[in-house]
Amino acid sequence: MANTKIKWISHAGFQITSGTGKVVYIDPWFDNPLSSMKLDEVKEAALVLVTHDHFDHVGQAAEIVHKTGGLLVANVETARRLQDDAKIPAEKVCYFGYGMNIGGSLLYEGISVTMTQAFHSTATGAPCGYIVRLEDGTTIYHAGDTGIFGTMKTFGELYRIDVAMLPVGSVFTMDPVQAARAAKMIAPKKVIPMHFKTFPILVQDLSEFIDLTGKEAPDVEVVTLEPGGEYIYSK
Ligand SMILES: [Zn+2]
Repeated sequence: MANTKIKWISHAGFQITSGTGKVVYIDPWFDNPLSSMKLDEVKEAALVLVTHDHFDHVGQAAEIVHKTGGLLVANVETARRLQDDAKIPAEKVCYFGYGMNIGGSLLYEGISVTMTQAFHSTATGAPCGYIVRLEDGTTIYHAGDTGIFGTMKTFGELYRIDVAMLPVGSVFTMDPVQAARAAKMIAPKKVIPMHFKTFPILVQDLSEFIDLTGKEAPDVEVVTLEPGGEYIYSK
């Protein structure tokens, strides 16, 4: 039985460590009011995933790629911008520098990454989410910044998601009402709420999301983390 370690950096940022010790970062943004993690703590990375080109999601992705030699995964145009602006060499960007796009998958060091749509805005390309399948089959869906959409149900059916990270903070993304319904549609084993509290305009606490998910999706366990907190998922 392999254990997957999921650390919430805060906001939409996660550090995922697979059972074999491979490290995947998603939207690693350390320079935010809630983050306790610093770039110094980053030692290694196999993959660095960026959901869209906004400062609170690109974060320190380029620095992590430079520091660790991990592979950057991003939409085609975002991948191009980061190569140009952050001087990331093409071989450190997925698909030989091209980046990828919605519906596409990548297999790298035994980890599969599928890019999904997200309904949001972005400075380059199109916003996305990711479905990450680790070596032991543990499947994680990070929705990115998005409103609710019906295809989330299909993702649940197609990929059998173990852990879903869903934004719940409203204003820029789903609010607790939509996120609880999304949890019902995706039907993961666990849901980790994200993208709340970071800014004063966002939803500040999880009480409404927990309450609504209990009603909408009683089989889905809500895992609440503090920034910097870790959750161990056993498949
Ligand atoms: Zn955001």
